[in-house]
Amino acid sequence: MVNLKKSYLFPTYNKFPLTLVRGHRTTLWDDEGKSYLDFMAGLAVCNLGHVPERVKTRIQEQMDQLWHVSNLFHIPIQEELAEKLVTISCADLVFFCNSGAEANEAAIKCARRYHQRVLGNNRYEIITFEQSFHGRTMATLTATGQEKVKDGYLPLPEGFVHARFNDIESVRNSITPKTAAIMLELVQGESGVHLAEPKFVFELAKLCEEEGILLIVDEVQTGIGRTGSLFAYEQYGIEPDIITLAKGLASGLPIGAMMGKEKLREAFSAGSHASTFGGSPLPMAAGLATIQMLVEDEVCERAKYMGIYALSKLKKNLEAYSIVRAVRGLGLLIGIEFTEPVAPIIQKLHQNGLLVLPGGTHVIRFMPSLYVTCDEIDQAIGILSNVLEERDGSADGAAL
Ligand SMILES: *Cc1c(COP(=O)(O)O)cnc(C)c1O
Repeated sequence: MVNLKKSYLFPTYNKFPLTLVRGHRTTLWDDEGKSYLDFMAGLAVCNLGHVPERVKTRIQEQMDQLWHVSNLFHIPIQEELAEKLVTISCADLVFFCNSGAEANEAAIKCARRYHQRVLGNNRYEIITFEQSFHGRTMATLTATGQEKVKDGYLPLPEGFVHARFNDIESVRNSITPKTAAIMLELVQGESGVHLAEPKFVFELAKLCEEEGILLIVDEVQTGIGRTGSLFAYEQYGIEPDIITLAKGLASGLPIGAMMGKEKLREAFSAGSHASTFGGSPLPMAAGLATIQMLVEDEVCERAKYMGIYALSKLKKNLEAYSIVRAVRGLGLLIGIEFTEPVAPIIQKLHQNGLLVLPGGTHVIRFMPSLYVTCDEIDQAIGILSNVLEERDGSADGAAL
């Protein structure tokens, strides 16, 4: 039930009227014992489902050993996760922090310092894209291509330019002698699941190489198996200079990572960047167990096939509804676009036991645990169809 007593939290969140107290795999329970199919996975964080056993055990083992020292000492478990991430990606080096915004902040700093201190030029501009989302710190909200996150925060830091997504000419026109890096999401999650076109990404990578511009891929939402491969960039046949990770990397413990190519080593020389909690033992243990589970259980392949199943079934079941404009996705990051705002539909879905999130105002995001079953996908689509059916029957959908 909604807790109506006075809250001492800043009211930064528009909260759903639900209190969830327990989770297992793709199921959540509220404080009255009602169960829900969880198709938001803590915002693409709980990719392995809720409370995955092997991750839990690994965290418990670390809990008994050591919680925190400081990055001024060697931390073997940090080296272990960094080595693992380098082995499974095209990157050579890792910097650990605590969130997606911090990982992107590190990427922006690393890109600028690479140009200014390693190459000795004074490039600092970062090109990002309209409708992108990169975080809420001052630099990352400036990088974000949506006005709503910038409201009331002037003055913004200098040196960020937005180009049009999937429009290579717009990128060309945005490049200046000061351009240091181009940063993008390969699937824009937050603004409504917009996929980058393969040709655009190929040309973008080529352009970066020709112009000596660093390519930063923000995989905070798309990484860790979400799109049907460990990282979405693999499916585009490119090798970014920098990759940022967070959300799914530690299955729910706070973590962020900026991974980069060897040539960036001296950009982050000793003393140039730091984080007190970054790379702390508990999230490192969770990260190691998460990657191990992903690889051992072939979770990415699973996500790929479940994604294809969900996408085709959604298309088939929803094409009859005139308010459904499009269904699109990559792996288990799926968006259903409507011709009208989705907030009332989402409210109905929650009441009917299906937890989903909006992406922008007109899109419902489907992003369950990567262990989701065909049966759970069928159930979720059944609930969605019923809600849309009810709506169609109700006086032309005047009131949901
Ligand atoms: C969620 C998200 C972020 C921000 O991550 P936080 O951990 O909330 O700081 C950045 N980029 C993308 C693509 C995201 O989806």
